[in-house]
Amino acid sequence: MSPADAPRVIVVGAGPVGLAAALLLDAQGHRVTVYEAKKELKLSDANSYPIGVNLRGQETLRRIDPALLDRLRAEGEVVAALSIYSGTRRVASLASGTLIATTRAFLTGLLLERVRGTRTITYRAGHALARVDLAGRTLTFTRPNGEEVTVDARDARVLAADGVWSATRRSLTEQVPGFMHRAGDWCVRFRVACPQPHASAPGLDPSIHHIFTSKGIYTATLQDGVWGVAVTAIEGDPAEELLLSTDASEADIAR
Ligand SMILES: Cc1cc2nc3c(=O)[nH]c(=O)nc-3n(C[C@H](O)[C@H](O)[C@H](O)COP(=O)(O)OP(=O)(O)OC[C@H]3O[C@@H](n4cnc5c(N)ncnc54)[C@H](O)[C@@H]3O)c2cc1C
Repeated sequence: MSPADAPRVIVVGAGPVGLAAALLLDAQGHRVTVYEAKKELKLSDANSYPIGVNLRGQETLRRIDPALLDRLRAEGEVVAALSIYSGTRRVASLASGTLIATTRAFLTGLLLERVRGTRTITYRAGHALARVDLAGRTLTFTRPNGEEVTVDARDARVLAADGVWSATRRSLTEQVPGFMHRAGDWCVRFRVACPQPHASAPGLDPSIHHIFTSKGIYTATLQDGVWGVAVTAIEGDPAEELLLSTDASEADIAR
């Protein structure tokens, strides 16, 4: 696989999308290089957030290798339903039975391990894309020591998977007249807490995920039954200050 004259693909970003794409393109015989901004991806549940992998995501894993989907199934928990509240009143319950609860860290780790173990994929950590020069067909990356590295991409296709603040998208917006994109700032801040199993939620069924709309709270169980609670606040909202506070005062606890 990946002979010297195989089509060359540069993937920017080693999130779940970039890594999955790299593996699928490698399997199709492309010569793939992944450039990731971070020198080291710190992938632990404690610094990640809960996600549910839907059927499309599960199918992607299966196409890469059914063993990856088996590992997700073994480690994750099937979400039976999502309960949605307005205040303390439950306003909807959506049955699932297919979504697999895990964390972004677990999913990324699964894919990264496979990419790192694939001899034909080149993985370059600590390369943050700074800009794309469309006329010159080059990509310029910044290294952690500030050094710049320019990569000739004339014979390559570039797959931008550099997330919500994409540098690729920024370059295209600057250089392609009329280039339109619909991405907007999230305008939210979020924080994730991982308490011990059932410590703060006795009696809650772990297979049901709870979404408290008015407070922007999402609770889910993670591996080993630990509760993950993602709390979101709109930027500028009074709740933002509470969200970012590290002061466990009586007043904050009550709020
Ligand atoms: C609280 C929360 C809950 C969520 N819940 C769910 C859920 O239940 N189900 C679901 O499917 N999705 C969920 N999501 C969304 C999901 O996390 C994203 O859709 C997914 O992570 C996008 O993957 P990605 O690979 O495109 O980008 P990202 O995960 O953002 O990864 C981008 C990668 O590119 C790297 N990068 C960034 N800039 C550069 C650059 N200039 N040069 C090189 N590399 C760069 C980053 O370091 C990172 O490794 C949730 C998100 C949040 C915040």
